[in-house]
Amino acid sequence: MEHTVSENRTYLNYINGQWSVSSTGEVEASISPANKHEIVGYIQKSSLDDLNAAVAGAKQAQKQWRKLAGSVRGDYLYKAAAVLERRLDEVAETMTREMGKTLPEAKGETARGAAILRYYAGEGLRAVGDVIPSTDSGALMFTTRVPLGVVGVITPWNFPVAIPIWKMAPALIYGNAVVIKPATETAVTCAKIIECLEEAGFPAGVINMVTGAGSVIGQGLADHPDVSGITFTGSNGVGKRIGQAALARGAKYQLEMGGKNPVIVASDADLDLAVEATVSGGLRSTGQKCTATSRVIVQSDIYEAFKDKLLQKLKGITVGDGMKEGIWMGPCANENQLQTVVTYIEKGKEEGASLIFGGERLQAPGYENGFFIEPTVFEHVTKDMAIAREEIFGPVLALMKVDSIEEALTLANDAEFGLSASIFTTNIGHMLSFINEMDAGLVRINAESAGVELQAPFGGMKQSSSHSREQGRAAIEFFTSIKTVFVKP
Ligand code: NAP
Repeated sequence: MEHTVSENRTYLNYINGQWSVSSTGEVEASISPANKHEIVGYIQKSSLDDLNAAVAGAKQAQKQWRKLAGSVRGDYLYKAAAVLERRLDEVAETMTREMGKTLPEAKGETARGAAILRYYAGEGLRAVGDVIPSTDSGALMFTTRVPLGVVGVITPWNFPVAIPIWKMAPALIYGNAVVIKPATETAVTCAKIIECLEEAGFPAGVINMVTGAGSVIGQGLADHPDVSGITFTGSNGVGKRIGQAALARGAKYQLEMGGKNPVIVASDADLDLAVEATVSGGLRSTGQKCTATSRVIVQSDIYEAFKDKLLQKLKGITVGDGMKEGIWMGPCANENQLQTVVTYIEKGKEEGASLIFGGERLQAPGYENGFFIEPTVFEHVTKDMAIAREEIFGPVLALMKVDSIEEALTLANDAEFGLSASIFTTNIGHMLSFINEMDAGLVRINAESAGVELQAPFGGMKQSSSHSREQGRAAIEFFTSIKTVFVKP
C-alpha cells in the first residue's frame, strides 16, 4: 500500500530517561482512520530486550523515588499538568489524527488528563493510614501504605490520553515507577504524553514507555518477575490472560474490560433528555467507549414517541474526519474495529432484528479512504441476539420494549457485563429500585451511561472488571500495599 508521509517522524521508546531505538531496528506506521494513506508517525516494534531494559531502569529508579516526600512527587505531577495544558492542542490533534475522535472531544480528554495529574498531585499530602487501638495500652498500632514497586501499565486506544494518565498518575504519586505499553494504535499519542512528563523533569527511570505488539510487550510485562503490579484496560480476552499470568506469579493486577451498558427509559421520563443522552452516550467517540450505551430499554407506552424523537435527532449527526469543524462523529479507530461493527450489523439482520437507521459503511468520495460507518439503530431486538449480548464497540443502538420497570431491570441485568447503566425517570421509587437492583459499577440517574467524574471511583461488576476501582481516592487500593505496624517502645 502507498503511504503519503504527512509527518515523517519516528517515535522512540523511552527507557531510563533516554529516547531509544528498539533492539529489533523495526518500526511500524501509525495511520489515520480518517485516511489510511496518512501516516501519523512511526513507532518502535520492540523486543523483550527493550522491555527488560525498561523494567531494570524502573526497578533501580523506584528505590529513590519511593523515598521522596509525597508532596515532592506531587510537584512533578503539577509540572506535568502545566506542560500538558501548554501542549494541549498538539496532543489533542495527534489523538484525533491517530484514532479518529473529533477534535473537541480530544481536547476535552487532554484537559481531563491535566486535571487528573493535578488531582493526584494533591494526593501526595493526604492521609494514608489509620491508627488502630491496641489491647496493649503501652503499644502503638497503625497502618501505613507502601508502593508496589514497578507497575506495568497496558492501555487501549479509545482514551489514549486519559487512561494512561489515570493509571500512571496514581502509580507515581504513591511511589511506584512505571513501564507503559500503550495500544499500538495510539502509540504516537502516548509518546506525546511521555514527552510532557519528561519535560516536567521526572528522574530518569521513574517513567518508561515501550511500544510493540501486545502479545510480546504486554504479555512480557504481565510475566515479568520484577513487575509487582499490572494495571490493564482493554478487551476481556486479553484481560483474562493478563490476570492469569499475574496471579500465577503472585503479582497484583487490575483489569478494566468490556461493557454492554443499558439505558432504561421509563414512562415518566423527560423524553428529550433521554434522547439527548442516548445519542451522546451511545454514539460519541463512534460508540467506542467502554461505558457507551448499547441497549436502550424503553417502556411500551412511550416507545413510539421516544423512537420518533431518537430518529429525528440522528438525522442531524454529521460523520466525517474528526479534524474538520462541524463533524459530530469520526471514523472507527481502525479497520478491524470497522469490520467488527459491520459483522454485528449483519448478525443483527440475520437474527431478525429490524434495522431502522443507518447500517452502512460510508464509502462515497471523501469517505473512501477512512473507516466510516453510519450511526445505526435496530429495533425488535430480543435478549438472546448477539447485538443484545456482546460488546460491539461501535455506533450501534439496540432498542428493546418492556411493559414495566421490573421487566426493564431484569432485562438490563441480563448481561455478563456490569460496567455502567442509566435510567431516565422522574419517579423516586424507580430511581431507588435502580440504585439498589442494577448490577453495575456506575449507576446513573437522568444522565448518560458514558462518563464519570475523575475524583469518583470507576470500575465495573461481573465480567467488566477485576473489581478493584480506578480513579479518585479508590486508586490507592491498587497502587499500594497496606502495612500493619505494631510498635512497643
Ligand atoms: P485490547 O485489544 O485488549 O488491547 C488493550 C491493550 O492490550 C493494548 O495495549 C494491546 O496491545 C494489549 N495487548 C494485546 N494483546 C495482549 C496480550 N496477549 N498480552 C498483553 N497485552 C496485550 O483492547 P482494545 O481493542 O485496545 O480496546 C477496546 C477494549 O477495551 C474494549 O473491550 C473496551 O470495552 C475496553 N475498554 C474498557 C475500559 C474500562 O475502563 N472498562 C475503558 C476503555 C476500553 P496492542 O495494541 O499492541 O494490540
